[in-house]
Amino acid sequence: MTSLLVTNIGELTTHGPQGTVQHASLIIDEGRVAWVGAKSHQPPTDARLDVEGRAVVPGFVDSHAHLVFAGSRAVEFAARMAGEPYTGGGIRTTVAATRGATDQTLHDNVARLVAETQRQGTTTVEIKSGYGLTVEDEARSLRIAAQFSPETTYLGAHVVPDGTDPDAYVRLVCGEMLDAARPHAKWVDVFCERGAFDVDQARAVLAAGMQAGLGPRIHANQLTEGGGVQLAVELQAASADHCTHLSTKDVDALAGSQTVATLLPGAEFSTRSPYPDARALLDAGATVALATDCNPGSSYTTSMPFCIALAVREMRMTPAEALWSATTGGARALRRDDIGHLSVGARADLTVLDAPSFLHLAYRPGVPLVHTVLRNGEFTCTP
Ligand SMILES: [Zn+2]
Repeated sequence: MTSLLVTNIGELTTHGPQGTVQHASLIIDEGRVAWVGAKSHQPPTDARLDVEGRAVVPGFVDSHAHLVFAGSRAVEFAARMAGEPYTGGGIRTTVAATRGATDQTLHDNVARLVAETQRQGTTTVEIKSGYGLTVEDEARSLRIAAQFSPETTYLGAHVVPDGTDPDAYVRLVCGEMLDAARPHAKWVDVFCERGAFDVDQARAVLAAGMQAGLGPRIHANQLTEGGGVQLAVELQAASADHCTHLSTKDVDALAGSQTVATLLPGAEFSTRSPYPDARALLDAGATVALATDCNPGSSYTTSMPFCIALAVREMRMTPAEALWSATTGGARALRRDDIGHLSVGARADLTVLDAPSFLHLAYRPGVPLVHTVLRNGEFTCTP
C-alpha cells in the first residue's frame, strides 16, 4: 500500500478542542496516520487527495447500536408522537419479527444500516444482539454482527421474553445462552430498568459475562433513577449508557471512575423525553460519549451528526465537546485507543466534511455534510 497525502485541509481536528489546526495536511501510510502538520511543511508522497479547504475530523465512533433486527415500528412511533408513553414494551414486537426472519434478511438489514452509518461519517460501530432472546437467535444475531464489526455485544438480557419466568430466564442468559454467544461477542450488556432487569439480576448477568471473558457495559438509568450506574461503577464497566436520570451520587460515582457515561440523545428525541444532564457530567469531570442507540423502537437514527446537533442544542455541550464525545469518547467507551482521534499512529479513520469547520455539524442540523470517509486508510464513502 502506498502512502496517501490528504492535503489542503481547511481545518483538521485530530483530538478535540486542543487538536484543531488550520491549513493542514495529513499522511496515511499502511492504514495509519503517519504524519500531521501544516500544509506548508508537507513531505512528498506517492498519492494525494486534495480536499479543497474542507474540514477533516476523526471518523465517528458509534459505541451503542442495535442493528440486528427485522420489522418496523413506525406505527408505534407515530402513536407515541400522538401521545402514548414509551414503556419499552415494544421490544417484544421486534423480537417476534427478528425470530421470524431468515439469516439473509438479518444480514441484509445490518449491511444496509452499516452502510448508512458510513455515509454519515461513522467508521466504527458497536452492534448488539438482543432481539432474539433464545439461545439460537442470540447466537445467530451475534454471528451476523461479527461479520460487520469486532465490537459485538451480547444483550440476551434486553427484556424477559413473554411467558418466561424472569429468574429462569436470567439463568439461561448466564448459562447456555452465554456459552452460545461468547464465541461471537466481545462485550456483555444488560437493560437494567424497571420492567426489564433489576440490579441483582443485572449484576448476575454481567458477572457471568465477565467470568466468560466478556467486557461489561450496561443500559443504566434511562427511564428511572435506578441502581444501574452504581452497578456499572462497582463492576468497572466500560460504559454506562443512557444516564438520563442521575442523582448527584451517580454523577460523582461516574466522575470518580473509568466508566464512560454514554449519552444517547436520539432516544430522548424519539420518545419526547427529557435529555440527560450532560453539563453536570462534564463539569464533574466524567468522560462522556455520544452514540446513536440506533434501534427500531426508540431511536431509529444512524446519524452521529444528528446526535452531535442534539447534544449541542438540547444538552448544552459545546460543539467541540460534542465532537470529542462522538469520536474519542466513543473510543473510550469501547476501551480503544487506536481510533477516535487522528494523532500519529492512530488508525486512519477520517471524515471529510463538506464544510469549512466541524462547527457546522451542529450549526447545520439535518444537512448531509459528509463528503468523503476513509476507514483504515481506504475509502468507504466517496463524493
Ligand atoms: Zn440501547
